[in-house]
This record gives sequence, structure tokens and C-alpha cells, in this order.
Amino acid sequence: MAYQSVNPSNGEVLKNFDQLNNSQLEQSLAAAESCFQTWKHTTYAERAVIVGKAAALMRTHVDDFAKLATLEMGKRIDEARGEVKFSADILAYYAEHAEKFLAPTKLHPKVGAAHMESSPFGVLFCVEPWNFPFYQLARVAGPQLMAGNTLVVKHAGCVPQCAIAFEKLWIDAGAPKGAYTNLLISHEQSEKIIDDPRIKGVALTGSVAAGKSIAAQAGQNLKKTSMELGGSDAFIVLDDADLEKTIPWAVWGRMYNAGQTCCAAKRFIVLDSIADKFLEKFKVALSALTPGDPMDEKTTHGPLSTEAALVQLLKQVDEAVASGAKLVMGGKRIDRPGSFMETTILTDIKPDNPAFRDEFFGPVVSFFRVKDEAAAIALANDSDFGLGGSVFTKDEARGKRVASQVDTGMMFINNIDWSDAELPFGGIKYSGYGRELGNMGIQEFVNKKLVRTADLNAPA
Ligand code: NAP
Repeated sequence: MAYQSVNPSNGEVLKNFDQLNNSQLEQSLAAAESCFQTWKHTTYAERAVIVGKAAALMRTHVDDFAKLATLEMGKRIDEARGEVKFSADILAYYAEHAEKFLAPTKLHPKVGAAHMESSPFGVLFCVEPWNFPFYQLARVAGPQLMAGNTLVVKHAGCVPQCAIAFEKLWIDAGAPKGAYTNLLISHEQSEKIIDDPRIKGVALTGSVAAGKSIAAQAGQNLKKTSMELGGSDAFIVLDDADLEKTIPWAVWGRMYNAGQTCCAAKRFIVLDSIADKFLEKFKVALSALTPGDPMDEKTTHGPLSTEAALVQLLKQVDEAVASGAKLVMGGKRIDRPGSFMETTILTDIKPDNPAFRDEFFGPVVSFFRVKDEAAAIALANDSDFGLGGSVFTKDEARGKRVASQVDTGMMFINNIDWSDAELPFGGIKYSGYGRELGNMGIQEFVNKKLVRTADLNAPA
């Protein structure tokens, strides 16, 4: 079953959902296109009423949304509430700032006057992952609806209830039919949508494999894409780091959302002189996490999103060990119902080990010790990914120096405070291209048109 709600904390099948047939899909695309023809003529103020209302409704119903995420993909309830509130903040942010971000900008040619103006592309196709079942949707819906685009969205197969709840949010907020449409569809139908001439841009957040496939399909159609893909972020600990402050960030950076975050700290690169101390304290802190029902506020270690995700992660750990890595901690499923994985630490990962390049999407630490700062930077950059990363040091200037030399889209010094509505989010290399959030996020799918006025005679 492609769309199925299963509670990953106990394996219970909650609900199955039918996919759209092709004629239902055609109706959805036609409605999105027809809606665009009027939506693009609405004012920013009119759009802001609806997007602002959606933000307010999310805030009023935080618990209802949060419980759905916890139920379908196992996010701990306090994290789920945080995600819903943050999603509302993103919607409210674009409702307030879109007009300013997309206002015409003056240029200064030698002759005459000129400006750039922005207009929406049309219907966008968005493909989104389960790990932040509301935030990922808000990241595209807030800016793109405010820009005047309309959206058809394919969410991940394991979070259909979240997907349907977010679509209902727009109906409740007063959005016209076709402004935001959730599609329960197959990958084959996704390909057909990308080919459809009514679709003018494609945004994906997901794995590298999905990125290659969807970007290739869009490329065949010369359609603009933005790609928010995987990551294997370095967490660099310099020799002067304050471990009392660093260890809690290390735990949070690896274990937030049960480790299933694109920009989670995944490769811990620690200078030799403090590596033993760091590892010892990190182990102790990770051991203190208690697995349990993610609906229970006291739980500090939730399940992975699905049984398939757990099986995949266990296989990766086994392969890493078979290829020479040492297992310092964990490595197995937790003996209880549900898809729970032990907190795991791998060391001695050599460049020929698949674990050296792979993304571990769960509570698995890859630990590296290096002799100095230059070696830390070189190792951080020896990755196919380039999403984010962090540096811990008491010397802020040194932290900035290191941050500038790491090839990623985002770097954090003495924190891993990844995301804010105001701050652009995205990566380079296999982590993708384009940015979401901030002013940059709303510029991805708008036509930047030059208009020049000059009272000139044509050249003879
Ligand atoms: P995934 O398998 O690529 O799934 C993501 C979405 O893409 C789902 O809706 C999935 O639908 C769809 N999809 C996959 N292949 C497709 C295809 N060939 N055609 C059409 N749709 C397709 O990703 P995942 O492994 O579940 O999610 C985690 C990945 O997302 C990680 O690599 C993570 O780092 C990345 N991520 C990146 C960001 C970022 O902002 N950079 C944020 C969050 C997550 P189905 O579920 O139906 O297969």
C-alpha cells in the first residue's frame, strides 16, 4: 500500500488510503491551473489574509496537528508541537514580508530608467518528505502562495493523514479550490505531472536518489527545480571547545527527531587532544536517553519513522562494521515493540568504508579523531554532501575562519540552531541547490522581468 498510516511506536496499521486515479489527478491539475489564473491577480494583502489565517489556525490547533505527526512518523510530542508552531511562524512570516521581498527593484542604466519586477510562474509541483511532515509543507506553501503561484503537492507515503490535514488547513483558511492540492499519487504519476505543460516548476525535498530522478525528468522539460536533499554534516570540535556546552549540542544535533534530520550532526570530527574526553562524555549523555512512547512527554528517545527505515539503518551499521568500523556503543534494534534503534557510535571509519560517504538517517554517530584544525576542515570537506555543519570553539573568530573553509550551504558556530523563517536554508553538492526560507526562498519560482523605459530613436 503506497499510502498507509502506521504507528511506528507499536507497528499498528492505522489507516490505508487509495491513490488518485488518472482522471481524478487530471481534475486536480485543471483546478490548480484554473485557480492560478485568478490567484495571480489577487493582491498581496488578499493573499496575506488567507496565509495569515492558516498560520493562526495552526497555532490554535497545535495539538491536533502535532498528534498526527507523532502518530504517523513517531516524532516525540514536544518536538511535534515545536514543528507545528514553527510552521505557523513561517506562514505568518511570508504573509507579512512577501510584498516587500517581491517589490520591483530599480536599476540604473546609463540611459533611461529600468526596473526588475517579479511575477509568479504558475502551478508548482512539490514533492516532500515525512521527517518534518508540516514544516516541509509550510516551507513551500507560505512563500509560493504569497508569490502568487498555486501548488500541487505529493507528500511521503507514510504520512497521508498529515498531508490531508495540511490541505484541509487551506480550505479552512479560505483559500480558493486549487490553490493548494494534496495528491496521493504514485512515482509514475509524478513523472507524468512533471511532463505536464501546466506545471511550471518543481521543488523536491528528499533523498539524493529522488533528486536525481525528479531533476532529470524536469530537465527533460527544461523546468526550473529546487532540490533540498540529504546531508552528512560535520560537527567539528576544536581543542579549545567548552565541552559542558558542546556535549548537549552534540546530543541534540544527532538525536533531535530521532536523528532523522537532513542537517543533523552526523560526522563528529574532534581534535585529538580532547577526543577521548569528548567521546566519554558523549557516550554518557547518549546513554541517558530513554526510549518510549513518543506521545509520552517523558520519552527522550523515539522510534524511527517506519520499520523499513529501521531495517535500512541496521543494514548500514552492519556493513560499516563488516568493512572495518568499530562499534563503540549500540548497533541493534531495541528489544521492544516498534521501530526503535539503539543510540549507536561508530569509530575507525576509513575512506574505503561505505559508511565514510553514506548518510545515516537515524541515531548513529560517526566519530573521527583528527590531529589539527586543518585536518578537521579537510575531513569535513571530504564528503559528497554539502548541506550544513558546525564548529565548537571558545574563540569565535577561529570558529568563523573554520566555517568559511567548509564547503556547505550553512555553518553554525557554537550552536546548531538550524532553521529560522528569516534565514535561507539549503546546500551544495549532493545536498542539492536552491534555497528555501528567508527572502531567497520566495525568489525561486518567480519570473524576474526587466522593464526598461528610454525615449530613444532607433539606431540608423
Ligand atoms: P525520499 O525517499 O526521497 O522521499 C521523499 C519524497 O520523495 C517522498 O514524498 C517520496 O514519495 C518522494 N519520492 C521518492 N522518489 C520519488 C520518485 N522517483 N518520484 C516521485 N517521488 C519520489 O526521501 P526519504 O529517504 O524518505 O527522506 C529523507 C531524505 O530527505 C534524507 O536524505 C534527508 O536528508 C532528506 N531531507 C532533506 C532536507 C533538506 O532540506 N535538504 C530536509 C528533509 C529531508 P514516497 O514516500 O511515496 O516514496
